[in-house]
Amino acid sequence: MARSRRPLIAGNWKMNGLRADALALATGVADGVRSAGWSDREVLVCPPATLLAAVAEAVKGSGVLVGGQNCHVNPNGAHTGDISAEMLRDAGVSHVIVGHSERRTDCGETDAIVRAKAEAAWRAGLLPIICIGETLTEREANRTLTVLETQIKGSVPSGATAAKLVVAYEPVWAIGTGKTPTTAEVASAHAHIRRVLDGLMADAGAVRLLYGGSVKGSNAGELLAVGDVDGALVGGASLKADEFLAIAKAA
Ligand code: PEP
Repeated sequence: MARSRRPLIAGNWKMNGLRADALALATGVADGVRSAGWSDREVLVCPPATLLAAVAEAVKGSGVLVGGQNCHVNPNGAHTGDISAEMLRDAGVSHVIVGHSERRTDCGETDAIVRAKAEAAWRAGLLPIICIGETLTEREANRTLTVLETQIKGSVPSGATAAKLVVAYEPVWAIGTGKTPTTAEVASAHAHIRRVLDGLMADAGAVRLLYGGSVKGSNAGELLAVGDVDGALVGGASLKADEFLAIAKAA
């Protein structure tokens, strides 16, 4: 049966990769995607900003999409060290991750900032991947669904439609730890996210919801088979072409 929401497998390279390694990785992913000939799923790589243009050039024509890991809310100006959504677009990018938990923690990004960044992505013609997720303390206090609801309501701009955003559920305690929620916990979180989105937009049923947090080739099949999981946001395992392609294959 054809899926109504085309799965998206996104690799977040974080602050990893010097030019030679990154280009080898990008070429490996591009070769794999080209030979698989997938038209029923999307594969995205999000390299560090310094490598965006080179990676976009390396994957050209393969079908692999390129995304940024963050953007500033403004299009330009006196913001030393920052990069605007327009600059990402200019480098050949189509997507941008906003509100990753590492930025929420390291840089104090609030829901309001994440929302402004999603709007900046729209302004530049990029598709934002809005990340949300609870901490271990919040989960243990049975606050997961409340936290997700607050983050969605605060981070998703008004005027959202399914074609204008992707949401990634990433439990903070599962990122880079090798731990994953049970499939029942993922199903419950994703169903709740969709219910909350339903109160905010007309076509919430068509929004792609990614799961992220210690996804690898060996657990991707099980996680991606959960209803309401429409792809994965992958950190560590996206740094090896074979492992990342195995996840894409499982979609
Ligand atoms: C991430 O950083 O978005 C992530 C999911 O990392 P990892 O796959 O390494 O847990």
